[in-house]
Amino acid sequence: MRIAVPQAVEQIIETLTCHGYEAYAVGGCVRDSLLGREPGDWDITTSASPYQVKELFRRTIDTGILHGTVTVMKNHVGYEVTTYRVDGEYEDGRHPKSVEFTSDLREDLCRRDFTINAMAYSHETGIVDIFGGVKDLQMGIIRCVGNPLDRFREDALRILRAMRFSAQLGFEIEETTRTAIEEIAPNLEKVSKERIQVELTKLLCSSHPEQITDVYAMGASPFVSLAFHEIDHSQVCIPSILPAKKHIRWAAFLKDTSREKAVQVLKDLKMDNATISRIQTLHPWILFPIRADKAELRRVMSQMEPEWFDDLLVLREAMELGQTVFAPGEITEKIVKPAKAGTLKQMAAEIREAGDCTCLKDLAVTGKDLLAYGMKPGKQIGETLSGLLDYVLSHPEENQKEQLLKLVKDRY
Ligand code: ATP
Ligand code: MG
Repeated sequence: MRIAVPQAVEQIIETLTCHGYEAYAVGGCVRDSLLGREPGDWDITTSASPYQVKELFRRTIDTGILHGTVTVMKNHVGYEVTTYRVDGEYEDGRHPKSVEFTSDLREDLCRRDFTINAMAYSHETGIVDIFGGVKDLQMGIIRCVGNPLDRFREDALRILRAMRFSAQLGFEIEETTRTAIEEIAPNLEKVSKERIQVELTKLLCSSHPEQITDVYAMGASPFVSLAFHEIDHSQVCIPSILPAKKHIRWAAFLKDTSREKAVQVLKDLKMDNATISRIQTLHPWILFPIRADKAELRRVMSQMEPEWFDDLLVLREAMELGQTVFAPGEITEKIVKPAKAGTLKQMAAEIREAGDCTCLKDLAVTGKDLLAYGMKPGKQIGETLSGLLDYVLSHPEENQKEQLLKLVKDRY
């Protein structure tokens, strides 16, 4: 069987083999190629030592030289070339005590997590499949290489990787692998929160994001974080039509929990601040009943950046398809008749088209104007500006300097 390999990868493998070393594409790229999916990146495994690799290529970066990885640059794209490796004994379920290089491809494949991730390929040799990865790919199965209990004890992150690959590929987790997950789940406590977050984010951004519930079903949630464990996940609704962007998928997942708890989960998992702040802003509006009223809609728009508001509409649209009930309770339903996302989208387009002011930046009066008008520097300026914005949100036609300054004169 022949796999289409990018030219640069072919060249790297050729250069190494011409100099007497072995070299193969390995891991995720082989898996994805066999599945007909576009590989995210191409990793190469070789019998050459990192120093030998460095000697053969003009531009290299010492990415993780102690662990055997050198990045070879070809046309501004980096390819990770890693020396065949046996991971030493794992000290604490987190880090291998030591990394040993080996000259045997088989040993390198042995250290990899799942059969579908433990295949190598070169045009010369074809597919090297020692553990039945091809068959598991055909059957749609995630199965550990070797004894699952040992493998999860070595590195508990593999527990979440199994769930993540299952969600990305639509695969089942094989029985003994699954029971081992349930047994070793408490070891996740020792795994760094960043690594956990990366896997959960990949799961949520997959084509089966609702499988985040596996983390609960398989008993892993208490060891992810307390706040995560306590989330109400009974009505998880993350339609896969949602863009696979982390803030959108996480926001959809966290919509049924309080804003405080949502932020706690993200902080626990060391999510970056920009994403936290985006989700924090969107959160209260995802299920909020918004009427088909332009003033009200402008008010919502004024709470966030324009692109964030677009994300909000995308989220609400998806929730409608997932048949999430918007108004919290009957009473609200009577007072407020929430508009459909499609209606809100149309109204927002009209608001933008008309150039209505929806943020302080677009207000016809600035702080400077108020100072020039004689107002003293200080709190009053900010309060006046917000008061004017609030007024203009309901009276967009009055966003004109003279009119607003007159209002200031009358009111303040
Ligand atoms: P992705 O599409 O997310 O990049 P991938 O399979 O390439 O998937 P990586 O995290 O990039 O995943 O890892 C590359 C390869 O390294 C894997 O295919 C697997 O062979 C091996 N690997 C990665 N993490 C582990 C781990 N925790 N334990 C064992 N092997 C691992
Ligand atoms: Mg990869």
